Amino acid sequence: PIGRDDVIAWLSAYSQLLADNREYLTQLDSSIGDADHGVNMDRGFKAVLGKLPTVADKDIGTILKSVGMTLVQTVGGASGPLYGTFFLQAGAATANKMELSLADWSVAVEGAINGLMARGKANVGDKTMVDALVPALHALKQAIADGIDDHEALRQSVAAAEQGMKNTIPLVAKKGRASYLAERSAGHQDPGATSSYLMFKAMMDAWT
Ligand code: ADP
Ligand code: MG
Ligand code: MG
Repeated sequence: PIGRDDVIAWLSAYSQLLADNREYLTQLDSSIGDADHGVNMDRGFKAVLGKLPTVADKDIGTILKSVGMTLVQTVGGASGPLYGTFFLQAGAATANKMELSLADWSVAVEGAINGLMARGKANVGDKTMVDALVPALHALKQAIADGIDDHEALRQSVAAAEQGMKNTIPLVAKKGRASYLAERSAGHQDPGATSSYLMFKAMMDAWT
């Protein structure tokens, strides 16, 4: 089962991955955006880490809701409200829970992604973070339905996120700043899909 400490380990691992990939994410955003995605995410998750000690003894839902509120307050841009919604919804789905099965977690992630998509109005193929998140969720649910063990289910989910991230390269952006470039957005990997892949990567690293 996934306990509160595992959730905190995941958030810490993600924060570290974002710090390590800050320049890379910003460079991706410089090609099709305004060159701030790495800076935005690193700032947001440094603030999340700073807040964690104040909620570390609470239930998983309270921890995740606090992450969402911190991101909304500190990230800004398009990605702040979207990742903020993801964590607020994940927190709503795990209210009062001290531990979760991977199946429980996949239900929470599904609610989180649905909330993010309702907010951003992006679908798969629009060259956004949704292109990494949705395949990762589908792979996770499929692996659980097939009775595959948790470690392998997480690995398959990360592989799907990575493929979805790479699949954004040839796409023409339909949402966000990159859509202002129209056809010229093709040929570049989406920064938000990349940070979403890293979010699943951090889950696998922290939980297996
Ligand atoms: P901004 O574009 O405001 O500078 P960021 O650079 O932090 O914000 O984030 C850009 C990322 O946000 C994009 O790469 C894309 O993945 C994601 N994004 C933008 N708009 C949307 C949307 N409507 N739905 C989902 N994701 C989006
Ligand atoms: Mg940007
Ligand atoms: Mg910006």
